[in-house]
Amino acid sequence: FAVEDIRNFSIIAHVDHGKSTLADRLLELTGTIDKTKNNKQVLDKLQVERERGITVKAQTASLFYNFEGKEYLLNLIDTPGHVDFSYEVSRSLSACQGVLLVVDANEGIQAQTVANFFLAFEAQLSVIPVINKIDLKNADPERVEKQIEKVFDIPSNDCIKISAKLGTNVEHVLQAVIERIPPPKVHRKNPLRALVFDSTFDQYRGVIANVALFDGVVSKGDKIVSAHTQKTYEVNEVGVLNPNEQPTLKLYAGQVGYLIAGMKDVTEAQIGDTLYLHNHPVEPLPGFKSAKPMVFAGMYPIDQSEYNNLKSAIEKLTLNDSSVTVHRDSSLALGAGWRLGFLGLLHMEVFNQRLEQEYNTSVVLTTPTVPYKAVLSSAKLIKEYREKEITIINPAQFPDKSKVAEYLEPLVLGTIITPDEYTGKIMVLCQARRAVQKHLIFIDQNRVMLKYLFPLNEIVVDFYDSLKSLSSGYASFDYEDAGYQTAELVKMDILLNGNIVEELVTIVHKDKAYSVGKTICERLKDSLPRQLFEIAIQAAIGNKIIARETMVVTSPEK
Ligand code: GDP
Ligand code: MG
Repeated sequence: FAVEDIRNFSIIAHVDHGKSTLADRLLELTGTIDKTKNNKQVLDKLQVERERGITVKAQTASLFYNFEGKEYLLNLIDTPGHVDFSYEVSRSLSACQGVLLVVDANEGIQAQTVANFFLAFEAQLSVIPVINKIDLKNADPERVEKQIEKVFDIPSNDCIKISAKLGTNVEHVLQAVIERIPPPKVHRKNPLRALVFDSTFDQYRGVIANVALFDGVVSKGDKIVSAHTQKTYEVNEVGVLNPNEQPTLKLYAGQVGYLIAGMKDVTEAQIGDTLYLHNHPVEPLPGFKSAKPMVFAGMYPIDQSEYNNLKSAIEKLTLNDSSVTVHRDSSLALGAGWRLGFLGLLHMEVFNQRLEQEYNTSVVLTTPTVPYKAVLSSAKLIKEYREKEITIINPAQFPDKSKVAEYLEPLVLGTIITPDEYTGKIMVLCQARRAVQKHLIFIDQNRVMLKYLFPLNEIVVDFYDSLKSLSSGYASFDYEDAGYQTAELVKMDILLNGNIVEELVTIVHKDKAYSVGKTICERLKDSLPRQLFEIAIQAAIGNKIIARETMVVTSPEK
Protein backbone atom coordinates (compact mmCIF):
# COMPACT_ATOMS: atom_id res chain seq x y z
CA PHE A 1 0.00 0.00 0.00
CA ALA A 2 1.21 3.47 -0.90
CA VAL A 3 1.24 5.79 2.10
CA GLU A 4 -1.54 7.95 0.63
CA ASP A 5 -3.83 4.89 0.60
CA ILE A 6 -3.47 4.33 4.35
CA ARG A 7 -5.65 5.81 7.09
CA ASN A 8 -5.01 5.30 10.79
CA PHE A 9 -7.97 6.13 12.98
CA SER A 10 -9.52 5.44 16.30
CA ILE A 11 -13.03 5.38 17.71
CA ILE A 12 -13.63 7.36 20.88
CA ALA A 13 -16.83 7.83 22.86
CA HIS A 14 -18.50 7.89 26.22
CA VAL A 15 -19.01 4.38 27.57
CA ASP A 16 -21.95 2.51 25.96
CA HIS A 17 -22.39 4.99 23.12
CA GLY A 18 -21.54 2.22 20.65
CA LYS A 19 -17.82 2.17 19.81
CA SER A 20 -17.46 -1.58 19.90
CA THR A 21 -20.69 -2.12 17.96
CA LEU A 22 -19.55 0.34 15.29
CA ALA A 23 -16.20 -1.45 15.15
CA ASP A 24 -18.06 -4.75 14.54
CA ARG A 25 -19.98 -3.20 11.62
CA LEU A 26 -16.80 -1.72 10.11
CA LEU A 27 -15.08 -5.12 10.35
CA GLU A 28 -18.06 -6.77 8.62
CA LEU A 29 -18.42 -4.16 5.92
CA THR A 30 -14.77 -4.55 4.97
CA GLY A 31 -15.01 -8.35 5.00
CA THR A 32 -12.55 -8.58 7.89
CA ILE A 33 -14.98 -10.78 9.81
CA ASP A 34 -17.86 -12.90 8.57
CA LYS A 35 -21.20 -11.17 8.46
CA THR A 36 -23.15 -14.35 9.10
CA LYS A 37 -21.71 -14.83 12.56
CA ASN A 38 -23.44 -13.18 15.45
CA ASN A 39 -20.80 -10.53 16.00
CA LYS A 40 -20.92 -8.76 19.31
CA GLN A 41 -18.02 -6.59 20.38
CA VAL A 42 -15.52 -8.95 18.74
CA LEU A 43 -12.63 -6.71 19.74
CA ASP A 44 -13.44 -7.15 23.43
CA LYS A 45 -11.40 -10.29 24.03
CA LEU A 46 -11.14 -10.44 27.80
CA GLN A 47 -13.79 -12.18 29.88
CA VAL A 48 -14.16 -9.16 32.14
CA GLU A 49 -14.77 -7.00 29.08
CA ARG A 50 -17.53 -9.29 27.89
CA GLU A 51 -19.17 -9.50 31.32
CA ARG A 52 -19.06 -5.82 32.10
CA GLY A 53 -19.68 -4.81 28.50
CA ILE A 54 -16.76 -2.43 28.66
CA THR A 55 -13.52 -2.31 26.75
CA VAL A 56 -10.43 -2.37 28.93
CA LYS A 57 -7.58 -2.94 26.51
CA ALA A 58 -7.44 -1.09 23.23
CA GLN A 59 -7.43 -3.45 20.24
CA THR A 60 -6.24 -2.93 16.73
CA ALA A 61 -7.56 -4.18 13.40
CA SER A 62 -6.47 -3.63 9.79
CA LEU A 63 -9.33 -3.28 7.31
CA PHE A 64 -9.23 -3.32 3.52
CA TYR A 65 -11.81 -1.17 1.77
CA ASN A 66 -12.47 -0.50 -1.87
CA PHE A 67 -13.68 3.04 -2.52
CA GLU A 68 -14.21 4.47 -6.01
CA GLY A 69 -12.15 1.72 -7.56
CA LYS A 70 -9.22 2.13 -5.22
CA GLU A 71 -8.14 -0.20 -2.43
CA TYR A 72 -7.42 1.42 0.94
CA LEU A 73 -5.83 0.09 4.12
CA LEU A 74 -7.66 1.40 7.17
CA ASN A 75 -6.13 0.71 10.57
CA LEU A 76 -8.75 0.87 13.30
CA ILE A 77 -7.83 1.12 16.95
CA ASP A 78 -10.74 0.50 19.32
CA THR A 79 -10.29 2.28 22.64
CA PRO A 80 -11.80 2.04 26.09
CA GLY A 81 -14.11 4.90 27.10
CA HIS A 82 -13.94 4.89 30.87
CA VAL A 83 -12.00 7.57 32.76
CA ASP A 84 -9.65 5.09 34.36
CA PHE A 85 -8.43 4.06 30.95
CA SER A 86 -7.98 7.46 29.32
CA TYR A 87 -4.31 6.60 29.44
CA GLU A 88 -5.02 3.85 26.89
CA VAL A 89 -6.99 6.32 24.79
CA SER A 90 -4.19 8.87 24.51
CA ARG A 91 -1.71 6.13 23.67
CA SER A 92 -3.86 4.83 20.88
CA LEU A 93 -4.36 8.33 19.54
CA SER A 94 -0.65 8.87 19.06
CA ALA A 95 -0.73 6.22 16.33
CA CYS A 96 -3.64 7.91 14.51
CA GLN A 97 -4.33 10.91 12.30
CA GLY A 98 -8.07 11.02 12.97
CA VAL A 99 -10.89 9.83 15.19
CA LEU A 100 -14.54 8.92 14.99
CA LEU A 101 -16.19 10.66 17.92
CA VAL A 102 -19.30 8.57 18.61
CA VAL A 103 -22.20 10.22 20.47
CA ASP A 104 -25.45 8.52 21.47
CA ALA A 105 -28.40 10.22 19.72
CA ASN A 106 -30.52 9.91 22.82
CA GLU A 107 -28.07 10.68 25.64
CA GLY A 108 -26.11 13.34 23.78
CA ILE A 109 -22.71 14.62 24.84
CA GLN A 110 -21.54 13.11 28.14
CA ALA A 111 -18.54 13.76 30.37
CA GLN A 112 -16.26 11.27 28.63
CA THR A 113 -17.29 12.56 25.21
CA VAL A 114 -15.81 15.89 26.28
CA ALA A 115 -12.66 14.39 27.80
CA ASN A 116 -12.02 12.19 24.77
CA PHE A 117 -12.67 15.00 22.31
CA PHE A 118 -10.03 17.15 23.97
CA LEU A 119 -7.49 14.34 23.94
CA ALA A 120 -7.98 14.13 20.16
CA PHE A 121 -8.06 17.88 19.73
CA GLU A 122 -4.80 18.35 21.62
CA ALA A 123 -3.18 15.66 19.47
CA GLN A 124 -4.32 17.73 16.44
CA LEU A 125 -6.31 14.89 14.93
CA SER A 126 -9.19 15.20 12.45
CA VAL A 127 -12.43 14.62 14.33
CA ILE A 128 -15.40 13.04 12.55
CA PRO A 129 -18.53 13.33 14.72
CA VAL A 130 -20.79 10.29 14.45
CA ILE A 131 -24.25 10.36 15.99
CA ASN A 132 -25.20 6.77 16.77
CA LYS A 133 -28.40 4.92 17.71
CA ILE A 134 -30.68 6.98 15.45
CA ASP A 135 -32.98 3.93 15.43
CA LEU A 136 -33.91 4.52 19.09
CA LYS A 137 -37.42 5.80 19.70
CA ASN A 138 -36.14 8.72 21.80
CA ALA A 139 -33.27 9.60 19.48
CA ASP A 140 -32.91 13.32 18.86
CA PRO A 141 -29.96 13.66 16.48
CA GLU A 142 -30.70 17.34 15.75
CA ARG A 143 -30.34 18.25 19.40
CA VAL A 144 -27.05 16.34 19.57
CA GLU A 145 -25.80 18.12 16.43
CA LYS A 146 -26.40 21.44 18.14
CA GLN A 147 -24.57 20.31 21.27
CA ILE A 148 -21.60 19.24 19.15
CA GLU A 149 -21.56 22.62 17.46
CA LYS A 150 -21.77 24.47 20.77
CA VAL A 151 -19.26 22.47 22.82
CA PHE A 152 -16.72 21.45 20.16
CA ASP A 153 -17.23 24.15 17.55
CA ILE A 154 -17.79 21.55 14.84
CA PRO A 155 -20.35 22.52 12.14
CA SER A 156 -23.47 20.36 12.45
CA ASN A 157 -23.20 19.46 8.74
CA ASP A 158 -20.11 17.42 9.57
CA CYS A 159 -22.08 14.95 11.71
CA ILE A 160 -22.81 11.51 10.27
CA LYS A 161 -26.02 9.98 11.65
CA ILE A 162 -25.95 6.21 11.95
CA SER A 163 -27.31 3.15 13.64
CA ALA A 164 -24.37 0.89 14.38
CA LYS A 165 -26.77 -1.78 15.53
CA LEU A 166 -28.71 -1.92 12.25
CA GLY A 167 -25.81 -0.86 10.02
CA THR A 168 -27.61 2.28 8.75
CA ASN A 169 -25.21 4.75 7.06
CA VAL A 170 -22.12 2.91 8.24
CA GLU A 171 -20.59 3.05 4.71
CA HIS A 172 -20.66 6.85 5.00
CA VAL A 173 -18.41 6.52 8.01
CA LEU A 174 -15.82 4.58 5.99
CA GLN A 175 -16.00 7.14 3.19
CA ALA A 176 -15.50 9.99 5.64
CA VAL A 177 -12.47 8.19 7.07
CA ILE A 178 -10.95 8.16 3.58
CA GLU A 179 -11.97 11.69 2.65
CA ARG A 180 -11.54 13.61 5.89
CA ILE A 181 -8.60 11.94 7.62
CA PRO A 182 -5.17 12.60 6.12
CA PRO A 183 -2.78 9.74 5.39
CA PRO A 184 0.08 9.40 7.89
CA LYS A 185 3.08 11.68 7.36
CA VAL A 186 5.92 9.21 7.09
CA HIS A 187 9.09 8.49 5.17
CA ARG A 188 9.72 4.99 3.94
CA LYS A 189 13.21 5.76 2.63
CA ASN A 190 14.44 6.83 6.07
CA PRO A 191 15.76 4.28 8.54
CA LEU A 192 13.20 2.53 10.73
CA ARG A 193 11.43 4.51 13.43
CA ALA A 194 8.58 2.64 15.12
CA LEU A 195 6.44 3.68 18.05
CA VAL A 196 5.39 1.03 20.58
CA PHE A 197 1.85 2.08 21.49
CA ASP A 198 0.76 -1.04 23.30
CA SER A 199 2.13 -4.40 24.29
CA THR A 200 0.68 -7.67 25.43
CA PHE A 201 2.26 -10.76 26.86
CA ASP A 202 1.72 -14.20 25.40
CA GLN A 203 2.78 -17.22 27.42
CA TYR A 204 4.30 -18.98 24.43
CA ARG A 205 5.61 -16.16 22.25
CA GLY A 206 6.67 -13.58 24.82
CA VAL A 207 5.92 -9.92 24.34
CA ILE A 208 3.83 -8.88 21.36
CA ALA A 209 4.45 -5.18 20.75
CA ASN A 210 1.85 -3.17 18.86
CA VAL A 211 3.73 -0.72 16.69
CA ALA A 212 3.04 2.20 14.40
CA LEU A 213 5.80 2.78 11.83
CA PHE A 214 6.66 6.45 11.31
CA ASP A 215 9.72 5.83 9.11
CA GLY A 216 11.33 2.97 7.22
CA VAL A 217 10.60 -0.74 7.00
CA VAL A 218 10.99 -3.68 9.36
CA SER A 219 11.27 -7.36 8.38
CA LYS A 220 11.76 -10.67 10.08
CA GLY A 221 15.44 -11.16 10.91
CA ASP A 222 16.19 -7.44 11.36
CA LYS A 223 18.20 -6.42 14.39
CA ILE A 224 16.37 -3.71 16.31
CA VAL A 225 17.19 -1.58 19.32
CA SER A 226 14.91 -0.14 22.00
CA ALA A 227 15.65 3.56 22.48
CA HIS A 228 14.50 3.24 26.07
CA THR A 229 16.60 0.27 27.25
CA GLN A 230 19.26 0.27 24.50
CA LYS A 231 18.82 -3.49 24.31
CA THR A 232 19.14 -5.19 20.92
CA TYR A 233 16.72 -7.84 19.67
CA GLU A 234 16.26 -9.92 16.57
CA VAL A 235 12.80 -9.64 15.01
CA ASN A 236 11.15 -13.09 14.94
CA GLU A 237 7.85 -12.08 13.40
CA VAL A 238 6.01 -9.05 12.07
CA GLY A 239 2.43 -8.81 10.92
CA VAL A 240 -0.91 -7.06 10.89
CA LEU A 241 -3.88 -7.47 13.21
CA ASN A 242 -6.91 -8.69 11.33
CA PRO A 243 -8.00 -8.50 14.18
CA ASN A 244 -6.04 -11.65 15.04
CA GLU A 245 -2.33 -11.69 14.35
CA GLN A 246 -1.50 -12.42 10.74
CA PRO A 247 2.21 -12.60 9.91
CA THR A 248 3.51 -10.61 6.93
CA LEU A 249 6.97 -10.36 5.37
CA LYS A 250 7.47 -6.73 6.23
CA LEU A 251 5.82 -3.73 7.84
CA TYR A 252 6.19 -0.38 6.11
CA ALA A 253 6.03 3.18 7.42
CA GLY A 254 2.40 4.26 7.74
CA GLN A 255 1.32 0.79 8.81
CA VAL A 256 0.15 -0.32 12.21
CA GLY A 257 0.87 -3.89 13.21
CA TYR A 258 2.70 -6.11 15.66
CA LEU A 259 6.22 -7.24 16.20
CA ILE A 260 7.69 -10.12 18.22
CA ALA A 261 11.37 -9.93 19.08
CA GLY A 262 12.12 -12.10 22.10
CA MET A 263 11.34 -9.45 24.68
CA LYS A 264 10.72 -11.18 27.98
CA ASP A 265 8.22 -8.90 29.66
CA VAL A 266 6.29 -5.77 28.86
CA THR A 267 8.77 -3.58 30.72
CA GLU A 268 11.18 -4.35 27.86
CA ALA A 269 8.58 -3.08 25.39
CA GLN A 270 7.71 0.12 27.20
CA ILE A 271 4.71 1.90 25.91
CA GLY A 272 5.89 5.04 24.16
CA ASP A 273 9.29 3.52 23.34
CA THR A 274 10.89 3.98 19.91
CA LEU A 275 12.42 1.03 18.05
CA TYR A 276 15.12 1.51 15.43
CA LEU A 277 17.51 -0.62 13.38
CA HIS A 278 20.79 -1.69 14.93
CA ASN A 279 23.53 0.70 13.77
CA HIS A 280 20.93 3.22 12.54
CA PRO A 281 20.01 5.22 15.61
CA VAL A 282 17.24 7.80 15.17
CA GLU A 283 15.78 10.62 17.22
CA PRO A 284 13.22 8.90 19.50
CA LEU A 285 9.57 9.83 18.99
CA PRO A 286 8.05 11.93 21.73
CA GLY A 287 7.04 9.44 24.42
CA PHE A 288 4.00 9.47 26.63
CA LYS A 289 3.41 10.69 30.10
CA SER A 290 3.77 7.54 32.13
CA ALA A 291 0.55 6.32 33.73
CA LYS A 292 0.27 7.71 37.22
CA PRO A 293 -1.47 5.60 39.83
CA MET A 294 -4.25 7.54 41.57
CA VAL A 295 -5.55 4.90 43.96
CA PHE A 296 -3.60 2.56 46.25
CA ALA A 297 -4.82 -0.45 48.20
CA GLY A 298 -3.26 -3.31 50.11
CA MET A 299 -3.77 -6.79 48.66
CA TYR A 300 -3.33 -9.93 50.75
CA PRO A 301 -4.02 -13.60 50.12
CA ILE A 302 -6.99 -14.82 52.18
CA ASP A 303 -4.83 -17.73 53.24
CA GLN A 304 -1.04 -17.19 53.58
CA SER A 305 -0.36 -20.59 51.99
CA GLU A 306 -1.69 -19.02 48.80
CA TYR A 307 1.00 -16.33 48.84
CA ASN A 308 3.16 -17.80 46.06
CA ASN A 309 0.21 -18.50 43.79
CA LEU A 310 -1.03 -14.97 44.19
CA LYS A 311 2.46 -13.58 43.66
CA SER A 312 2.81 -15.35 40.34
CA ALA A 313 -0.72 -14.32 39.27
CA ILE A 314 0.02 -10.65 40.04
CA GLU A 315 3.29 -10.89 38.12
CA LYS A 316 1.58 -12.39 35.09
CA LEU A 317 -1.23 -9.88 35.10
CA THR A 318 1.08 -6.89 35.44
CA LEU A 319 3.09 -8.26 32.50
CA ASN A 320 0.04 -7.22 30.51
CA ASP A 321 -0.86 -4.09 32.39
CA SER A 322 2.19 -2.01 33.14
CA SER A 323 0.03 0.78 34.60
CA VAL A 324 -0.38 -1.18 37.86
CA THR A 325 2.41 -0.48 40.36
CA VAL A 326 3.41 -3.17 42.85
CA HIS A 327 5.21 -2.78 46.19
CA ARG A 328 5.70 -5.55 48.72
CA ASP A 329 3.94 -4.91 52.01
CA SER A 330 3.04 -6.76 55.18
CA SER A 331 0.59 -6.39 58.00
CA LEU A 332 0.27 -7.92 61.45
CA ALA A 333 -3.22 -9.22 60.86
CA LEU A 334 -3.10 -10.05 57.17
CA GLY A 335 0.48 -11.29 56.79
CA ALA A 336 2.61 -10.77 53.70
CA GLY A 337 1.07 -9.00 50.75
CA TRP A 338 1.41 -6.04 48.42
CA ARG A 339 0.43 -2.43 48.05
CA LEU A 340 -0.83 -1.91 44.54
CA GLY A 341 -1.37 1.34 42.68
CA PHE A 342 -4.17 1.71 40.13
CA LEU A 343 -5.31 4.41 37.73
CA GLY A 344 -8.73 4.51 39.40
CA LEU A 345 -11.33 2.45 41.23
CA LEU A 346 -12.71 0.71 38.15
CA HIS A 347 -9.17 -0.21 37.18
CA MET A 348 -8.73 -1.71 40.66
CA GLU A 349 -11.97 -3.69 40.40
CA VAL A 350 -11.14 -4.93 36.93
CA PHE A 351 -7.67 -6.03 38.07
CA ASN A 352 -9.15 -7.86 41.03
CA GLN A 353 -11.79 -9.52 38.89
CA ARG A 354 -9.16 -10.65 36.38
CA LEU A 355 -7.08 -12.14 39.21
CA GLU A 356 -10.10 -14.12 40.35
CA GLN A 357 -11.32 -15.18 36.93
CA GLU A 358 -8.13 -15.77 35.03
CA TYR A 359 -5.95 -17.02 37.90
CA ASN A 360 -8.50 -18.41 40.34
CA THR A 361 -7.26 -16.51 43.38
CA SER A 362 -9.13 -14.81 46.19
CA VAL A 363 -7.79 -11.83 48.05
CA VAL A 364 -8.43 -9.26 50.75
CA LEU A 365 -8.30 -5.68 49.46
CA THR A 366 -7.95 -2.85 51.98
CA THR A 367 -9.80 0.47 51.66
CA PRO A 368 -8.30 2.46 48.79
CA THR A 369 -6.31 5.64 49.50
CA VAL A 370 -4.87 8.37 47.30
CA PRO A 371 -1.19 9.38 47.04
CA TYR A 372 -0.75 12.18 49.58
CA LYS A 373 2.55 14.01 49.88
CA ALA A 374 4.46 15.44 52.80
CA VAL A 375 7.10 18.15 52.49
CA LEU A 376 9.75 17.45 55.12
CA SER A 377 10.62 20.22 57.54
CA SER A 378 14.37 19.93 58.07
CA ALA A 379 17.54 19.31 56.11
CA LYS A 380 18.34 16.42 58.42
CA LEU A 381 15.08 14.67 57.56
CA ILE A 382 15.52 15.33 53.87
CA LYS A 383 18.87 13.59 54.10
CA GLU A 384 17.36 10.71 56.04
CA TYR A 385 14.53 10.14 53.54
CA ARG A 386 16.75 11.12 50.60
CA GLU A 387 14.04 13.41 49.22
CA LYS A 388 12.31 16.61 50.13
CA GLU A 389 8.80 15.47 49.33
CA ILE A 390 7.67 12.02 50.23
CA THR A 391 4.66 10.32 48.70
CA ILE A 392 2.48 8.44 51.15
CA ILE A 393 0.84 5.45 49.56
CA ASN A 394 0.18 3.66 52.83
CA PRO A 395 -1.67 5.52 55.64
CA ALA A 396 0.20 3.48 58.25
CA GLN A 397 3.40 5.27 57.11
CA PHE A 398 1.95 8.78 57.48
CA PRO A 399 4.81 10.95 58.82
CA ASP A 400 4.17 12.77 62.07
CA LYS A 401 3.33 16.50 61.98
CA SER A 402 6.58 17.28 63.82
CA LYS A 403 8.56 16.17 60.75
CA VAL A 404 6.47 17.94 58.18
CA ALA A 405 6.41 21.50 56.82
CA GLU A 406 3.20 20.87 54.93
CA TYR A 407 1.01 18.10 53.64
CA LEU A 408 -0.28 18.03 50.07
CA GLU A 409 -3.28 16.26 48.59
CA PRO A 410 -3.89 15.33 44.92
CA LEU A 411 -6.50 17.29 42.97
CA VAL A 412 -8.54 16.49 39.89
CA LEU A 413 -10.54 18.64 37.53
CA GLY A 414 -13.95 16.98 37.26
CA THR A 415 -16.46 17.46 34.43
CA ILE A 416 -20.13 16.77 35.14
CA ILE A 417 -22.84 16.85 32.49
CA THR A 418 -26.39 16.77 33.79
CA PRO A 419 -29.99 17.68 32.97
CA ASP A 420 -30.51 21.12 34.51
CA GLU A 421 -33.11 19.97 37.02
CA TYR A 422 -30.37 18.24 39.07
CA THR A 423 -27.85 21.11 39.00
CA GLY A 424 -28.79 22.44 42.46
CA LYS A 425 -28.47 19.09 44.19
CA ILE A 426 -25.18 18.38 42.42
CA MET A 427 -23.74 21.70 43.58
CA VAL A 428 -24.60 20.82 47.16
CA LEU A 429 -22.92 17.42 46.76
CA CYS A 430 -19.78 19.00 45.27
CA GLN A 431 -19.56 21.55 48.08
CA ALA A 432 -19.82 18.80 50.66
CA ARG A 433 -16.84 17.20 48.90
CA ARG A 434 -14.73 20.35 49.35
CA ALA A 435 -14.85 21.06 45.61
CA VAL A 436 -14.44 24.49 44.01
CA GLN A 437 -16.56 25.39 41.00
CA LYS A 438 -14.57 26.50 37.94
CA HIS A 439 -17.05 26.59 35.12
CA LEU A 440 -20.76 26.28 34.27
CA ILE A 441 -22.31 26.38 30.80
CA PHE A 442 -25.53 25.24 29.22
CA ILE A 443 -24.74 22.86 26.36
CA ASP A 444 -28.38 23.01 25.24
CA GLN A 445 -31.66 24.32 26.66
CA ASN A 446 -31.78 21.90 29.55
CA ARG A 447 -28.36 20.39 29.91
CA VAL A 448 -25.52 21.81 31.96
CA MET A 449 -21.79 21.18 31.96
CA LEU A 450 -20.08 21.89 35.30
CA LYS A 451 -16.39 21.86 36.08
CA TYR A 452 -15.11 21.50 39.62
CA LEU A 453 -11.71 21.17 41.21
CA PHE A 454 -11.95 18.22 43.61
CA PRO A 455 -9.58 16.78 46.18
CA LEU A 456 -9.12 13.29 44.72
CA ASN A 457 -9.81 11.51 48.01
CA GLU A 458 -13.31 13.06 48.06
CA ILE A 459 -14.31 11.25 44.88
CA VAL A 460 -12.57 7.87 45.09
CA VAL A 461 -14.96 6.23 47.44
CA ASP A 462 -18.62 6.90 46.74
CA PHE A 463 -18.87 10.12 44.78
CA TYR A 464 -19.90 8.52 41.52
CA ASP A 465 -22.65 6.47 43.17
CA SER A 466 -24.00 9.54 44.98
CA LEU A 467 -23.96 11.56 41.76
CA LYS A 468 -25.78 8.82 39.88
CA SER A 469 -28.42 8.33 42.54
CA LEU A 470 -29.26 12.00 43.06
CA SER A 471 -29.59 12.51 39.29
CA SER A 472 -31.59 9.30 38.68
CA GLY A 473 -28.63 8.04 36.67
CA TYR A 474 -28.57 10.98 34.23
CA ALA A 475 -25.43 12.84 35.28
CA SER A 476 -22.10 11.70 33.89
CA PHE A 477 -18.67 12.34 35.34
CA ASP A 478 -15.08 12.34 34.21
CA TYR A 479 -11.90 13.80 35.67
CA GLU A 480 -8.31 14.58 34.89
CA ASP A 481 -5.24 15.04 37.02
CA ALA A 482 -4.84 18.62 38.31
CA GLY A 483 -1.77 18.61 40.53
CA TYR A 484 -1.58 19.03 44.32
CA GLN A 485 -2.73 21.51 46.95
CA THR A 486 -1.77 22.18 50.56
CA ALA A 487 -4.13 20.41 52.94
CA GLU A 488 -4.49 20.02 56.67
CA LEU A 489 -4.34 16.28 56.95
CA VAL A 490 -4.45 14.12 60.02
CA LYS A 491 -3.96 10.45 60.64
CA MET A 492 -6.94 8.72 62.17
CA ASP A 493 -6.53 5.48 64.09
CA ILE A 494 -9.31 3.00 64.60
CA LEU A 495 -9.23 1.08 67.86
CA LEU A 496 -11.01 -2.11 68.79
CA ASN A 497 -11.14 -2.49 72.58
CA GLY A 498 -8.33 0.01 72.88
CA ASN A 499 -5.99 -1.60 70.34
CA ILE A 500 -5.05 0.18 67.11
CA VAL A 501 -5.88 -1.85 64.00
CA GLU A 502 -3.16 -0.99 61.52
CA GLU A 503 -5.19 -1.99 58.46
CA LEU A 504 -7.92 0.50 59.35
CA VAL A 505 -5.71 3.57 59.71
CA THR A 506 -6.88 6.36 57.38
CA ILE A 507 -5.76 9.84 56.42
CA VAL A 508 -8.49 12.49 56.57
CA HIS A 509 -8.86 16.20 56.12
CA LYS A 510 -8.98 17.94 59.51
CA ASP A 511 -12.44 19.41 58.85
CA LYS A 512 -13.86 16.01 58.06
CA ALA A 513 -12.28 13.98 60.83
CA TYR A 514 -15.41 13.89 63.03
CA SER A 515 -17.85 12.90 60.34
CA VAL A 516 -15.52 10.34 58.75
CA GLY A 517 -14.64 8.87 62.17
CA LYS A 518 -18.29 8.54 63.05
CA THR A 519 -19.16 6.86 59.74
CA ILE A 520 -16.29 4.38 60.00
CA CYS A 521 -17.27 3.39 63.55
CA GLU A 522 -20.92 2.96 62.57
CA ARG A 523 -20.05 0.88 59.53
CA LEU A 524 -17.72 -1.32 61.54
CA LYS A 525 -20.41 -1.88 64.14
CA ASP A 526 -22.71 -3.14 61.41
CA SER A 527 -20.18 -5.24 59.58
CA LEU A 528 -18.12 -6.92 62.32
CA PRO A 529 -19.20 -10.45 63.15
CA ARG A 530 -21.23 -10.67 66.38
CA GLN A 531 -19.14 -11.46 69.43
CA LEU A 532 -19.85 -13.01 72.79
CA PHE A 533 -18.41 -10.00 74.62
CA GLU A 534 -18.79 -6.26 74.35
CA ILE A 535 -16.50 -4.41 71.90
CA ALA A 536 -15.63 -0.72 71.94
CA ILE A 537 -15.03 0.73 68.47
CA GLN A 538 -13.22 4.06 68.59
CA ALA A 539 -11.78 6.58 66.16
CA ALA A 540 -8.84 8.61 67.48
CA ILE A 541 -6.54 11.37 66.36
CA GLY A 542 -3.40 11.13 68.40
CA ASN A 543 -4.61 10.56 71.95
CA LYS A 544 -7.97 12.13 71.37
CA ILE A 545 -10.99 9.89 70.86
CA ILE A 546 -13.33 11.56 68.37
CA ALA A 547 -15.98 8.90 67.85
CA ARG A 548 -17.16 5.81 69.63
CA GLU A 549 -19.61 2.98 69.08
CA THR A 550 -20.19 0.01 71.30
CA MET A 551 -21.10 -3.37 70.01
CA VAL A 552 -23.17 -4.99 72.72
CA VAL A 553 -23.70 -8.67 73.22
CA THR A 554 -26.98 -9.73 71.70
CA SER A 555 -28.75 -12.94 72.39
CA PRO A 556 -28.63 -15.33 69.41
CA GLU A 557 -31.55 -14.87 67.02
CA LYS A 558 -34.28 -17.43 67.12
P1 GDP B 1 -19.15 0.96 23.81
O1 GDP B 1 -19.12 0.90 25.31
O2 GDP B 1 -19.06 2.37 23.32
O3 GDP B 1 -18.15 0.05 23.16
O4 GDP B 1 -20.62 0.50 23.39
P2 GDP B 1 -21.12 -0.87 22.79
O5 GDP B 1 -20.78 -1.00 21.37
O6 GDP B 1 -20.69 -1.97 23.71
O7 GDP B 1 -22.70 -0.63 22.86
C1 GDP B 1 -23.39 -0.38 24.06
C2 GDP B 1 -24.83 -0.83 23.93
O8 GDP B 1 -25.52 -0.03 22.96
C3 GDP B 1 -24.96 -2.28 23.47
O9 GDP B 1 -26.04 -2.86 24.16
C4 GDP B 1 -25.29 -2.13 21.98
O10 GDP B 1 -26.04 -3.21 21.50
C5 GDP B 1 -26.10 -0.84 21.96
N1 GDP B 1 -26.01 -0.15 20.66
C6 GDP B 1 -24.89 0.16 19.97
N2 GDP B 1 -25.20 0.77 18.82
C7 GDP B 1 -26.55 0.88 18.78
C8 GDP B 1 -27.49 1.42 17.82
O11 GDP B 1 -27.15 1.94 16.76
N3 GDP B 1 -28.81 1.34 18.15
C9 GDP B 1 -29.24 0.77 19.30
N4 GDP B 1 -30.55 0.74 19.53
N5 GDP B 1 -28.39 0.24 20.21
C10 GDP B 1 -27.07 0.28 19.95
MG1 MG C 1 -16.68 -1.26 23.94
